[in-house]
Amino acid sequence: MNIIFLGPPGAGKGTQAQRLERDHGWVQLSTGDMLRAASAAGTELGRKARSIMDTGELVPDEVMAGIISERLDDVRDGFVLDGFPRTLAQAEFLDGALADRNMSIDAVIEFTFEEEALVRRLSGRFACANCGAVYHDAFKPPQNAGECDHCRGCEFERRTDDEPDAVRNRLEVYRRQTEPLLPYYRDKGMLKSVDGMAAVDAVTQQIEAIVGPG
Ligand code: ADP
Ligand code: AMP
Repeated sequence: MNIIFLGPPGAGKGTQAQRLERDHGWVQLSTGDMLRAASAAGTELGRKARSIMDTGELVPDEVMAGIISERLDDVRDGFVLDGFPRTLAQAEFLDGALADRNMSIDAVIEFTFEEEALVRRLSGRFACANCGAVYHDAFKPPQNAGECDHCRGCEFERRTDDEPDAVRNRLEVYRRQTEPLLPYYRDKGMLKSVDGMAAVDAVTQQIEAIVGPG
C-alpha cells in the first residue's frame, strides 16, 4: 500500500512508519531523515537545508520535489510518506509525480494530537545513530539500556530542533502550512484519522484497522 502520514512533529509518524516497514515492507520515506543524511554528508544541499531546519521553517518546495521524485521509482511495492507533503504545493506536485508513474495513494492517515504532549515527546526523543530507530526516555526506552533493540548499536543522537523553542515554531509552521492539507485530502475522500496520543501499540492497531491485512 501507498500511505501518507499527516501530523505535527512528535505525533508518532516515524515510530509508526518504522513499524509498517518492519511488518509489511512498505518503505518509510522520511524527508526529514533524507535532509539530515544530506546534512551529515556535508553536501551543499545538506548545508542549506540544515540552516533552515534549525529554525523550524520549511525547506523550499522545489527542493523537496526533487528529493522525493528521486525516491518514488524505488518504492513500487509500497511506501509510507512521513513528513511529505507539508504544503499544498507539495501535495499537488505529488499528485502529478504519482500519476506520471501510474501510482496512487491508498490512504492518508491523520494523527490527532494535543500540543502539550508533543513538547514532552520531543524533549525526550532520541534515535539510534546507526539504524535510526526512534526511542523516548520515558515512553519507549530501549529494552536493554544503552543498546538499540534493532541493531544492537550503542550510540544514540538527539535532534537540535527538538529543543522547546524550535518545537514551538515547528508547531506554528505545521498549523499554518500543513494543516490545510487535511481538507485537501478530506475532500478527495482519502482522509482517515488515528488518535496520535494513544499508546504506541494502540496507535499501531488503529492503523492496522485502516490498512487491513495488506
Ligand atoms: P514524528 O515522526 O511524528 O515527529 P516520532 O515517531 O519521532 O514522531 O515520535 C516522537 C517521540 O515520541 C519519540 O521519542 C517516540 O519514541 C515517542 N512516541 C511515539 N509515539 C508515541 C506514543 N504513541 N506514545 C508515547 N510516545 C510516543
Ligand atoms: P521532520 O524530521 O519531518 O520533523 O523534519 C525536520 C525538518 O526538515 C523540518 O522542520 C523542515 O525544516 C525539514 N523538512 C522535512 N520534510 C520537509 C518537507 N516535506 N518540506 C519542507 N521541509 C521539510
